[in-house]
Amino acid sequence: MLNDIVKPLTEWYRQNKRSLPWRDRHNAYYTWVSEIMLQQTRVEAVKPYFRRFIEELPDPVALAECPEEKLLKLWEGLGYYNRVRNMQLAAQMVVEEYDGILPASYEKLLSLKGIGSYTAGAIASIAYDIPVPAVDGNVLRVISRVCADDSDIMKQSVRTAMERKLRELMEGMTDVLIPRKFNQALMELGAMICVPNGAPHCEECPWQAFCEARLQNRIAELPVKKKAKARRVEEKTVFVICDGEKVALHKRGSKGLLAGLYELPNCEGKKSQEEALAYVKEIGCKPIRIRELTEAKHIFSHVEWHM
Ligand code: SF4
Repeated sequence: MLNDIVKPLTEWYRQNKRSLPWRDRHNAYYTWVSEIMLQQTRVEAVKPYFRRFIEELPDPVALAECPEEKLLKLWEGLGYYNRVRNMQLAAQMVVEEYDGILPASYEKLLSLKGIGSYTAGAIASIAYDIPVPAVDGNVLRVISRVCADDSDIMKQSVRTAMERKLRELMEGMTDVLIPRKFNQALMELGAMICVPNGAPHCEECPWQAFCEARLQNRIAELPVKKKAKARRVEEKTVFVICDGEKVALHKRGSKGLLAGLYELPNCEGKKSQEEALAYVKEIGCKPIRIRELTEAKHIFSHVEWHM
């Protein structure tokens, strides 16, 4: 089955690929930056961030040397700040060990901070034409559907098996069907046709004639994705401490969630007014008035803050 997907897919990609700012030049640094940005954000939203980032930090040397405040500002709005911090650590390693050029080796890319098998595969194949896959949720979805494979894609063993199968397929490719095209075509199909939310556009899909999920009428049930553990809920009391036009801010510690970012002062647990007043005094303020604000919720991948 997997052998059958290659030709129609790459032909479809040749005719339908979108022009994207990181796609027009085969530059490993551009691929890297765009793939990290795209991990939690849609393509359209990433475009302006990508352009600004590349303008300010055009190569790994500039990224390695960028002051932290400027780096975080460039990333502001994309969230998950550890991603850009890890990118900087990786860029410093690239400067020290590889003369400022991302190595043309899947294994060496994988050894860089913040680069997992997906990103290493994307850079190696797109920038350097190395026949390795880049398996993310999109690829797991489209391959599960075309093969009607009901393995649970949340399992690492399923992802590893998929990587192995696609790697074998890619290593057997001829010159024309180069790795760069194949991986980008898979990503594009997952983004445009066999979409993650809502019904896939099977009538436009290059695999419609032989897609097993479609033939067996099982599209809605594939891929199988068993529920992850429920998120941990943390109660917090957050303080908007005002003095005239000034508002108190607190800088978080250098490790852990949202490391080094500014926030409103807060403490664990849901406090009563008396407890809240006692806490504010404890941190050195002399409150005159206190008023309760509305509740708010913030959801991270593994934890929820109820504030
Ligand atoms: Fe997805 Fe439909 Fe294409 Fe099958 S035919 S891969 S379900 S878009």
